[in-house]
Amino acid sequence: MKKNIKEWGFPVDRMFLAAGPCSAESREQVLDTAKTLAKGNVSFLRAGIWKPRTRPGSFEGVGKEGLQWMVDARAETGLKIGTEVAEPAHVEACLEYGLDILWVGARTSTNPFSVQAIADALRGTDIPVFVKNPMNADVGLWMGAIERLANAGITKLGAIHRGFSSELETRYRNAPNWKAPIELKRRMPDIPMICDPSHICGKRELIPAIAQEALDLLFDGLMLEVHPDPEHALSDAAQQLTPEQFFELVGRLKLSHEQSDSAAFAARMSELRETVDDLDSRMLDVLSQRMDVVRKMGALKAEQNVSTFQPHRWQEIINDRVQKGTTLDLSEDFVLQLMQSIHEEAIRQQEIRRINGAE
Ligand code: PEP
Ligand code: MN
Repeated sequence: MKKNIKEWGFPVDRMFLAAGPCSAESREQVLDTAKTLAKGNVSFLRAGIWKPRTRPGSFEGVGKEGLQWMVDARAETGLKIGTEVAEPAHVEACLEYGLDILWVGARTSTNPFSVQAIADALRGTDIPVFVKNPMNADVGLWMGAIERLANAGITKLGAIHRGFSSELETRYRNAPNWKAPIELKRRMPDIPMICDPSHICGKRELIPAIAQEALDLLFDGLMLEVHPDPEHALSDAAQQLTPEQFFELVGRLKLSHEQSDSAAFAARMSELRETVDDLDSRMLDVLSQRMDVVRKMGALKAEQNVSTFQPHRWQEIINDRVQKGTTLDLSEDFVLQLMQSIHEEAIRQQEIRRINGAE
């Protein structure tokens, strides 16, 4: 597997940058977008040709005809072109039209049968392929999809973080859940990773912060949806940027590095890190003490045959801790998640005792 995305043969300036409409809608729209994007440093023009829509009856893509528009856009602008493939027939069509790069969408990477069928159709080629994360935050499944393509002989493989579908109403269309891509990076350090803030955010105003966060987390680049007239886009209207918004955003993004040469920075960081190490160790002590108390309560509950879960008490804890947290400058979401995680472990500890009996 090639590590450096810069060796893939795509123009890469400050970062690997995929941009273009959610869907190819008309020849004019594809060419228009391409001509504007060609003025900047775009690594490839993206456009969906076959669109996986949640409900039938929505716009499902223009199909093969759109591939010709992309080929024409490449001829006019020199931009490389790429699209999403979800089945072997898509792969065959893309290879026939000579696309430069493909990606496997989130719905597809969720299904190993589909990924294997795509991998089999790609065998014998060495087209670069990105794999979007599965709909749910299953890092093993994401890795498995990348491995299936690697086993078929694809060497230019990358990952796209596009967030995870959630049953809860959240600020984002797909929860960023950064720990999942961070874990993928830890387990597959050689796989370049780009972020797709458009599908994470669902709303264009949220995109800049997520794009910057991805770069701060050392992602290799971004995929952004750009449409000449987002309001009238046939899919994902609320999250597409105008070319102007796109260029403005890209111009404002700051690239960070893993290390700095400044000695003053290093000294101050090491001081602060020591403080963090100390605070973490105190926090773990406190958590361990808390868990001891929880186990004692578990024993008492078991004796009295009282349920482990106490809904009223839990509601009180949540209200109180969230309120306290907010006064301490901690976000409500964070305190809620932290308390949920502590509570889940507390219940598990009490249940272990109940099943195994007190020692
Ligand atoms: C897309 O990139 O247009 C797309 C459908 O994305 P996802 O697979 O992330 O939903
Ligand atoms: Mn889209």
